[in-house]
Amino acid sequence: ALTTAAAVGLTACGDDSGDSGGSANSAAAKGKVGVILPDTTSSVRYESFDRPYLEQAFKAAGVGYDIQNAEGSAQRFQTIADQMLTSGVTVLVVDGLDSNSAAAVQRKAQAQGVKTIDYDRLTLGGVADYYVSFDNVKVGEDLGKGLQKCLGDKKSNIVYLNGAPTDNNATLFSQGAHSVLDKVSAYTKVAEQAVEKWKADKAATLFEQMWTEQHGKIDGVVAANDALGNTVVSILKKNQEAGKVAVTGQDASLQGLQNILDGTQCMTVYKPVKQEADAVAKLAVALIKGQKGETNGTVNDPTGKRDVPSVLLTPIPVYKDNVKKPVDDGFIKTADLCKGA
Ligand code: BGC
Repeated sequence: ALTTAAAVGLTACGDDSGDSGGSANSAAAKGKVGVILPDTTSSVRYESFDRPYLEQAFKAAGVGYDIQNAEGSAQRFQTIADQMLTSGVTVLVVDGLDSNSAAAVQRKAQAQGVKTIDYDRLTLGGVADYYVSFDNVKVGEDLGKGLQKCLGDKKSNIVYLNGAPTDNNATLFSQGAHSVLDKVSAYTKVAEQAVEKWKADKAATLFEQMWTEQHGKIDGVVAANDALGNTVVSILKKNQEAGKVAVTGQDASLQGLQNILDGTQCMTVYKPVKQEADAVAKLAVALIKGQKGETNGTVNDPTGKRDVPSVLLTPIPVYKDNVKKPVDDGFIKTADLCKGA
């Protein structure tokens, strides 16, 4: 009776423990999760997918949350982290802009007894307790296999537009793509560039330079995500070459999928972000409850010389013939996809 009265009293007082029934294994955990996303421009994913899926997952778990976006500024990233730590977050989830600034944030959190989780990008030299991501080497292999599927065995000149050099994922994507394409003797890599901060305007300049230098003799482009892929497609369109050059992508963005339907993009890599958001929420809740999180592997951080316990999810390559996959998952709406087709 005492327990019930206490529970009722607490509820009436608006206590946010969320322990509604007083039952021993009531699901809700006391705590607040802070999430810092990197930017709003390198991919549509952060504001269109990560944020809403994370909100859903935290709500379902009954934990408080504060999700903010650093909008491409490492300084803002730091400021947001400081605010979150001051406001008493119990777990900090970071999708870093670069490893140095993200690691600094993690060390500060650690010094205050706040657990941290690397989300999507591994912070090299960081101190995160866990890492949640997709298998990023496999993403790269999917890009390589995708390009190969679109080019076939014909003699081809290939260029790479990699992601930001400060993003460990970009390194892994390139590594995975090379592991497939370097083995195909009909292919020649004629150029490879990393795109600073994953910026579309930088990618445009780089690809235009490649196009000029190669006198338009480029048959395939490993573009590390849909934003970069679409930049390449736009330049190819100006040159009346769109659809004749195989271009990859990643994120299954609406634009990327429409390009696939149009025949101007070869493929994209779909990463069901809902799974990633759910996994990080689950880990955060475990940490809040002082439990160990469930993982399915480790990822090596060569800088920090340690293996980080990880949840690694499986990416899905998407071509014209399975373009409905992200739609069936509710990731993209049919009406939106068909608008541009
Ligand atoms: C993410 C990609 C994204 C890219 C640019 C990578 O770290 O894994 O999904 O397209 O960053 O934001």
